[in-house]
Amino acid sequence: MTMSIEYSNRLKKLPPYLFVEVDKAKQGIVKQGKDVIDIGIGDPDMPTPKNIISVLQDQAENKANHQYPSNRGIGVLREEIAKWCKKRFSISLDSEKEILPLLGSKEGIGHIPVAFISSEEDVVLVSDPGYPVYNSGTILAGGTPYKMALLKENNFLPVLKDIPETIAKRAKLMHINYPNNPTSAVATEEFFKEVIEFAHKYNVIVCHDAAYTEISYDGYIAPSFLETDGAKDVGIEFHSLSKTFNMTGWRIAFAAGNEKVLDGLAKVKSNMDSGIFQAVQYAGIEALKLGSDFDEQRNAVYQERLDAFYNGLIDMGIKIDKPKATFYVWFPVPDGYTSKSFAMKVLREAHVVITPGNGFGEFGEGYVRAALTVDADRIKEATKRIKSIL
Ligand SMILES: *Cc1c(COP(=O)(O)O)cnc(C)c1O
Repeated sequence: MTMSIEYSNRLKKLPPYLFVEVDKAKQGIVKQGKDVIDIGIGDPDMPTPKNIISVLQDQAENKANHQYPSNRGIGVLREEIAKWCKKRFSISLDSEKEILPLLGSKEGIGHIPVAFISSEEDVVLVSDPGYPVYNSGTILAGGTPYKMALLKENNFLPVLKDIPETIAKRAKLMHINYPNNPTSAVATEEFFKEVIEFAHKYNVIVCHDAAYTEISYDGYIAPSFLETDGAKDVGIEFHSLSKTFNMTGWRIAFAAGNEKVLDGLAKVKSNMDSGIFQAVQYAGIEALKLGSDFDEQRNAVYQERLDAFYNGLIDMGIKIDKPKATFYVWFPVPDGYTSKSFAMKVLREAHVVITPGNGFGEFGEGYVRAALTVDADRIKEATKRIKSIL
């Protein structure tokens, strides 16, 4: 007899994975032996620096690292994180209480609603288009997401005064992300101030996703939300070693900021996971010590790719503000197309994988995202091919 397996309402409520069709079509074209340029996924193509790998290899031999790691991360890692934050942003953090290492920031972003959402009445304000976990984490915790539109006319910043009063009053958490994936927009100090004011007014915890602060162009330096006065009173910031140090596979990140908020997240985590493999924590320390030479080299590579893609767009007659940060280019589809129909045409006819904007939320419709994760020659080839089919 077969038992009937019933998924939970929470699981059923998760939005469908919109990239399925593009993935399938890509597989078909790869199978035909075509030369596919994949600039769809936000995963760095450059390798993790060698000295980080060496530290992992050495530490993997140490028996002390073979056991369960300490729950809140080893002290030396938290201290190195505090030093990095001080050096990079001039923010002072207590390494005992105001820093929480994570198994990737996705893990922290996914788990945090469990600590602060009690029922469907509770709202989480999520950026749309945005990193999908803001929305799915809310649903898995049984809360209600409210989409804050990121629109070109507002420089892809949410307009807080447009959030209905009834929603604002029910809100427990807000997810924002600057430099932004997928729009590559950056935040102003003014905007962060407004966020803090809003958070106080409605008692909303702010979660700022800072995965891309280190990847920037043309002299732009991205701020930390925690640099704005009063930020630590209202929230936390998620940082990740993934994109910064080409370590997406290693699963190491951290949250920093408000002690009580971090304690809530830590309590959830202590019941879900048992920390980061200690050898990886030591490798993370090595990464944080790399310094500005590494940052400059990495950004020079992305800058060359960005310039190539941006010039390619100009050649196609597509005008956007040149991104100041992240390794994404977010651009409107030509007239007569939807996000999906354009992405599919580019895939089928130019054999270039780009991501339809509506996969990041309804307000991403009309846009597509390209990731600068192949070398500049391939970027040039990709834009040449796209131009030729328009
Ligand atoms: C890549 C990414 C993350 C997740 O990074 P991990 O630390 O590898 O989990 C979080 N937020 C945004 C916006 C991202 O693009």
